[in-house]
Amino acid sequence: MLVVKVGGGRGIGYDMVCVDLAALHAMGRPCLLVHGGSHETNMLATALGHPPRFVTSASGYESRYTDRATLEIFQMAYCGKVNKGIVERLQSLGVPAVGLAGLDGRLLSGPRKATLTIVEQGKKKVLRDDHTGKITSVNTELIRILYDAGYMLAVCPPAISDDHIAVNVDGDRAAARIAEALGVDELIILSNVPGLLRNPVDESTLVDKIATENLDDYFDYAKGRMKKKLMAVKEALAGGVKRVILGDARVAQPIQRALAGRGTVIGAATDH
Ligand code: ADP
Repeated sequence: MLVVKVGGGRGIGYDMVCVDLAALHAMGRPCLLVHGGSHETNMLATALGHPPRFVTSASGYESRYTDRATLEIFQMAYCGKVNKGIVERLQSLGVPAVGLAGLDGRLLSGPRKATLTIVEQGKKKVLRDDHTGKITSVNTELIRILYDAGYMLAVCPPAISDDHIAVNVDGDRAAARIAEALGVDELIILSNVPGLLRNPVDESTLVDKIATENLDDYFDYAKGRMKKKLMAVKEALAGGVKRVILGDARVAQPIQRALAGRGTVIGAATDH
């Protein structure tokens, strides 16, 4: 099985990803899709009068502060609109797709982190009532049951916490955990950029290959959310995934292109 993550940033459409998933399915190369929905969530949250609040953690990572109202809007966007939209597209392409959130069947679970230490205008501040978590367990049995029965799974956050609360989790890290738990060799992460760029605003500055042992040297190029993506890549490689490809979701055959090495390929130096 191949694990594919597609982001939810501005500019990402799911048609080409779904057409490619259907083509791979027809070729006998089954995939599991993990998807985001951040742009849809931001638009819905703003329309509902509860605009998103992005914060920078004390360790320098950007994240969405997820109070209960935000979590509920997040679920409307991720599980309601984006996940079901992807399932609908896949069904229309003849793929028997099933869409599940991480909380369904405790597919993705782990501890909740209810307090968040942030840095705002140079000062540390503690935010409470955050609905964010970390995945420590993947229900691979449920994945296998669906896979063995021929279904293609489309998974999205939220996950379920150990104390049974829905929690926002990072989609890239969710994909990394699933890839690791399933013991797959390759993880493809598609987003609204061609891969890791030396200059984030210049798409011609793509880094095409990174040897696993040199990955830390590239964190300086990554700004904002790309930092988290590289962290997820690092975790996946440490967890046994052999090759991670950061590819472009906005092109035709995005998955097959990434498999052919278009994008940023991160893996053992001997693999490329
Ligand atoms: P997704 O929602 O698809 O998971 P993210 O929004 O989390 O994707 O991450 C992709 C974003 O990271 C890009 O849209 C880009 O703005 C930003 N970014 C920051 N630094 C870089 C970089 N060095 N190379 C590529 N993208 C970068």
